[in-house]
Amino acid sequence: MTLVILALDALDAGLVEHFDLDSFRLASSTEVQTFAHARDQPFTPEVWATVATGLDPEEHGVTGSGTSEWDNPLLEFASKFSAKLPENRRGQLGDLVGRATGERERVGRTDRKTVFDREGGVVRNWPGVGDGADLQRAWDLMVAVSKDISRREFERDLLGLCAEQFGWAREMLHHEVSVAGVHVHTLDAAGHAYADDEAALREVYERVGGFVDEVAAALGPDDDLLLLSDHGMRTAFFDADAGEKPGSHSWRAYASATTEDVPDDVYDVADWVDRHVRGVAPDEDDRVEMPMEQLRDLGYVE
Ligand SMILES: [Zn+2]
Repeated sequence: MTLVILALDALDAGLVEHFDLDSFRLASSTEVQTFAHARDQPFTPEVWATVATGLDPEEHGVTGSGTSEWDNPLLEFASKFSAKLPENRRGQLGDLVGRATGERERVGRTDRKTVFDREGGVVRNWPGVGDGADLQRAWDLMVAVSKDISRREFERDLLGLCAEQFGWAREMLHHEVSVAGVHVHTLDAAGHAYADDEAALREVYERVGGFVDEVAAALGPDDDLLLLSDHGMRTAFFDADAGEKPGSHSWRAYASATTEDVPDDVYDVADWVDRHVRGVAPDEDDRVEMPMEQLRDLGYVE
């Protein structure tokens, strides 16, 4: 009854093979055609808004270089080199990043119909579509790791956020939900931080794969799961990326699904969702009788 869509930012088709991870190989898997519009690499908010609407950036309106939260070139530079710097230089670089990015601009939100605008459709943290608070946290972590937090803190907080997002997706399977989508920034953040550290990136892939296993195991007979990315991530250790800049976005976007077919172009996902979503009964809007007097007595409300 429920289709769960895990928007796994930067999940790389080549690295799924390189790391040989079955967790990301559901019944059908494929490399996915993605695109670049405002930049010469796929740009996260643009692609996810296209996935959700089936529309071109010019039509869904989430585009442009103003939405710089995820793909800031200076941040990529910082995350690539900060780990190699002596402790005192890392702080300076972090300050530089902070000054250059300044006040963070919020990503725009499309006003066009999305795949989640249907009876029983729910979405959490989807660039260009849903609440961006989770993404803000991932972004803050990416900046923080170039400044003053340790690898231990970075991984603990990044995977902690990831666990919340996967836990939410799993919970949706217990409700009258037709389609549940959540964007997970973990592999993008880890990919930038560990583009030259194969063991560290493999470990994060394995952790995220473990979360995918848990969702897959929780699916009922009528539920389906789609894993999807907007682009991949070039690394220093993957042969196909020789001569490319590690930590830049690769064209190896990826999809895998529990169904017999899987979308192979980011522009086709919305149609694919329309074909695979099953309806849920209209919400009868049973009201919950919350005893407001009690809440007032406890000081929870005025
Ligand atoms: Zn992305």
